[in-house]
Amino acid sequence: MNGKVVLITGASRGIGAEAARAFAEAGAKVALLARSEDRIAELAGEIGPAAIAIPCDVSRFWEMQAAVDATLKTFGRIDVLVGNAGVIEPISHLAEADPEEWGKVIDINLKGVFNGMRAVLPHMLDQGGGTILTVSSGAAHNPVEAWSHYCASKAGAYMLTRSVDNEYRDKGIRALGLSPGTVATEMQREIKASGINPVSQLDWSDHIPPDWPAKAMVWMCGAEADAWLGDDVSLRDEDVRRKVGLS
Ligand code: NAP
Repeated sequence: MNGKVVLITGASRGIGAEAARAFAEAGAKVALLARSEDRIAELAGEIGPAAIAIPCDVSRFWEMQAAVDATLKTFGRIDVLVGNAGVIEPISHLAEADPEEWGKVIDINLKGVFNGMRAVLPHMLDQGGGTILTVSSGAAHNPVEAWSHYCASKAGAYMLTRSVDNEYRDKGIRALGLSPGTVATEMQREIKASGINPVSQLDWSDHIPPDWPAKAMVWMCGAEADAWLGDDVSLRDEDVRRKVGLS
């Protein structure tokens, strides 16, 4: 990753923050995006001159475009987009879901992923290529009780990965999703607190640490992951874990 530039959404905590550390450790420069200004500023301070913090709400295209422009101004290029920002609340059954709140999750988890892709693609195409990683989920492929907003948004984001691959693979764009399994982050705390569905009943020790998906995403930037172009890599797959160096 030496000399490469990676833009990470949702870098203020959890998987995104660990991805920032893992990419920086691998030699990349990282642009950290999230709404929590203080947390990304602190993380950028920890990483050093190879990091910049850019406050950004991914659900607003103009903010994403401004963040991409700021990254290009500082680092001159963007080689990798990590579309990681996501929310799970409010967890609710379909018949009781608040339509406004349901839509906000789509704005972040689905439109936020589109906004990132739309903002970086013209630059990546000019540059002759790039990698677009999106944090997916088993929920992209199967319904989970009281998660209709989340499942629908992740299924849509998965189709965006397939769409980018379909339109731009032959122009040097590598698009892949990562389905991490369950990860010990704030999001799992919210799921546990809901008490609804089998995921909320899992023991904390069932979750993998967030540096696992972070390491997987660094690996996904390499040619070994080309077999998964246009598809989700599952971190539950033992073979993938071995390739990433996790087991
Ligand atoms: P997390 O700790 O809750 O982190 C979510 C991140 O998304 C935070 O950095 C948050 O930052 C950011 N975010 C939320 N809304 C945003 C917005 N409108 N604009 C910009 N950033 C926003 O959860 P996590 O587990 O690390 O989740 C990261 C990704 O992994 C999500 O896409 C999630 O769906 C996916 N995932 C997680 C699991 C799991 O078990 N944890 C499993 C499968 C997939 P701010 O609040 O500061 O904006």
